Amino acid sequence: MREISNKIENKINIINQKFENINNKMSEIDTKFESIFNKVVNQNQNNTKTQNDIESLLRMLNTNNNSVFSSSLNNLRNDSIIEFRGFKMRADVAAKFIKLEEMIKQEFPGRQIIITSGMDGQHMPGSKHYEGKAIDFVVEPLTIEESKKIEELAKKAGFDVYNEYIYDSPYKTGPHMHIQIP
Ligand SMILES: [Zn+2]
Repeated sequence: MREISNKIENKINIINQKFENINNKMSEIDTKFESIFNKVVNQNQNNTKTQNDIESLLRMLNTNNNSVFSSSLNNLRNDSIIEFRGFKMRADVAAKFIKLEEMIKQEFPGRQIIITSGMDGQHMPGSKHYEGKAIDFVVEPLTIEESKKIEELAKKAGFDVYNEYIYDSPYKTGPHMHIQIP
């Protein structure tokens, strides 16, 4: 009996060791990836091909790890137009939105947070959407009452907010939150 439990303990130790190795490798990969990313970004920001590379890298990061994504965003010019969650917007808007998303997740764990519009779509003439400075998003599910809390968090994150869960607009396409930077 004692012998069996010793054997099991040994196996568990081996497994733990393997996990530790995997974790170490993962952070090595993270670091390598970041340095490659920084190289690509620094090469030439105005080069169209590079811009496409950056976008595809961002798209890839976007599906993986938010923290790597944010640190990569820091290396872009604020007014660089990037694709984030399938929508075009300025890099600083995406970075701010990631922060807001963390705040929303804390307040409403388990809710879905979905961007519904960036630079695309129909908006008011002169809308910040066309400059990449505005995005629309929804939180699901969400009551009208709760939308006021989201409004508050978005302001805290540094956005100007138009709560279209409550207020109507001529271009209203359904209940959502419109946020923009000045
Ligand atoms: Zn909007």
